[in-house]
Amino acid sequence: MDKLACGTHQALVGQVVAHISPRGGSFGKWAATAQAQRKEPVEGSSRSTGEQQLQHPTVPLSRYESQKKRDWNTFGQYLRNQSPPVSLSECNYTHVLQFLQYLDQFGKTKVHLYGCVFYGKPEPPAPCPCPLRQAWGSLDALVGRLRAAYEENGGTPETNPFASGNIRVYLREVRESQAKARGIPYKKKRKNKKNEDKGEDGSSPSPLH
Ligand SMILES: [Zn+2]
Repeated sequence: MDKLACGTHQALVGQVVAHISPRGGSFGKWAATAQAQRKEPVEGSSRSTGEQQLQHPTVPLSRYESQKKRDWNTFGQYLRNQSPPVSLSECNYTHVLQFLQYLDQFGKTKVHLYGCVFYGKPEPPAPCPCPLRQAWGSLDALVGRLRAAYEENGGTPETNPFASGNIRVYLREVRESQAKARGIPYKKKRKNKKNEDKGEDGSSPSPLH
């Protein structure tokens, strides 16, 4: 019923368009236009969810969007790999904290331990055995993307574990300890050749003191 009404309506629109078209000299063209326009909504009406309509496969994702998608997949995989696996509805801020700590093993930022002679030195003259970690700015940007992705994937703002105050506190602690260990005050803008992570240079709007 709905389908029929929609198709009829569209056919009318097609005719009107053909009539007002200044280049409607060819009758064949009118018919083709009307037919083409009639076809579309029939296919469209088979869509059951509004969600699909939002996705335009022909439009390439922005860098932010594709990064967000990758992050979301990584996080989902992390939850599934827990024993027992954690469903999204069970996921809380402790899982997020564990995830952020888990990511540290893939970090590329040298963070000196308190006992290291280079602790607090921005450019150490020699290598040291201190661990590589995820830079605060990378984690901060990641949490921002996942916070958005969580709600785009059906989560509610009320249950969003990425928006938890505990995460904010954790990020602030990471930022302060890394600033001390690396001798980098995060207030100072760092020239990042790669310009990889937006918000890494401390321009985050969150009120971190
Ligand atoms: Zn060190």
